[in-house]
Amino acid sequence: MTTPFPPSGVAASDVLGHIDRMQDEDIDWRDGRAFAYVYHGGEALESLLQRAYLAGFSTNGLSPSAFPSLARMEREVIEMVGDLLGCPSPAGSITSGGSESILLAVKTARDRLLERHPEVGRPRIVLPTSAHPAFSKAAHLLGMTTTRVPVDPAGLGADPEQMLAAVSDDTALVVASAPSYPHGVVDPVAELAGHALAREVPLHVDACVGGMLLPFARDLGRTIPDFDFAVPGVSSMSVDLHKFGYAAKGASLVLYRDPAYFAHQPFVFDDWSGGRYAAPNVAGTRPGGAIAAAWAALTHLGREGYLGLVSRALTASDAILAGIERTPGLHVLGSPHASLLAFGSDVHSLPAIAKDMRRRGWAMGLQGPPESIHLTVTAGHDRVAEALLADLRSACSADDATPSEQSPGYS
Ligand SMILES: *Cc1c(COP(=O)(O)O)cnc(C)c1O
Repeated sequence: MTTPFPPSGVAASDVLGHIDRMQDEDIDWRDGRAFAYVYHGGEALESLLQRAYLAGFSTNGLSPSAFPSLARMEREVIEMVGDLLGCPSPAGSITSGGSESILLAVKTARDRLLERHPEVGRPRIVLPTSAHPAFSKAAHLLGMTTTRVPVDPAGLGADPEQMLAAVSDDTALVVASAPSYPHGVVDPVAELAGHALAREVPLHVDACVGGMLLPFARDLGRTIPDFDFAVPGVSSMSVDLHKFGYAAKGASLVLYRDPAYFAHQPFVFDDWSGGRYAAPNVAGTRPGGAIAAAWAALTHLGREGYLGLVSRALTASDAILAGIERTPGLHVLGSPHASLLAFGSDVHSLPAIAKDMRRRGWAMGLQGPPESIHLTVTAGHDRVAEALLADLRSACSADDATPSEQSPGYS
């Protein structure tokens, strides 16, 4: 039977008890068991985020005049992250997440091209095969086309020459990732930006997962290729605060170097009985709690706090990477630049291993091609790296003991 509309209410304590029990089945992210989806910065930070979120709980970012507190926090977050990413006077918005940041960056690029070249029917996005599906979703929603260009098969980064060859007069936007989600590899942003500048096409750097990770990894001595606004030709960036910004869910940034370019983002409607309606984002009503919690995370942690969190994530991912390389039959794909990585196998069944690991309480994503298992390693994983590797070795041995289903004709 489907769920009937409740005839009468349920006591608050029972409601909370129900939610608690439903969550029993969820992955134990607090204990470092999720290698995607959750970025846990510890209990003290979580408690601060909850209090900040509650402080903004009923406020609405749609109205800067009713809620100047949110307008100010949003502006300060944009300026702080702009400073971190080499953009002294950034324009942009806090959005609900990476997909919305990307949708807006794509919309902005589309409208810039159509203003200059109204004859272009369906503006195009040129992007590497590793770029996030949010760009294809945006193209779908915005009446655009995409050309996905194969990555360099060895390093798994974007191939600038092939990407350049795909750029034509209908290209509204070229995309690079810093890093790509599947393999944690930073695309050659400087080379792509040089080409984009020469063709007068905007370049978007998708730093949804890396924007709050790579700058600190570099400060900690990692070799990180240039990826941000310090590179001339980078027009816009997306940076998720609810990933390595360790903020509450529902917070990302879209940033622009040039306010005149950003001017293509807002939607303004002047022919409504409700009066003039202006919204910079996809959302109308915007949860003030998410904005307040993002502001709280950046302000509370500061550079020192993020260096500590990133250092823990890198220590954990180094240990996991080394452990995978030592496990017979497994290999790491490409050369990950920070704490996201993927491993493949020539001997084991990766679907069987992912399933076995889920049974052991670990959530890690099966992906491909090339077929591999993805891990986003965060600060909370430093305590579980050895336990993860032990279970991974057991899962590989269990797979060895299971006869593989070979189709007839294979020798
Ligand atoms: C997570 C991610 C996105 C999408 O962000 P959501 O917040 O899930 O919408 C886009 N690009 C990259 C590289 C990501 O890691």
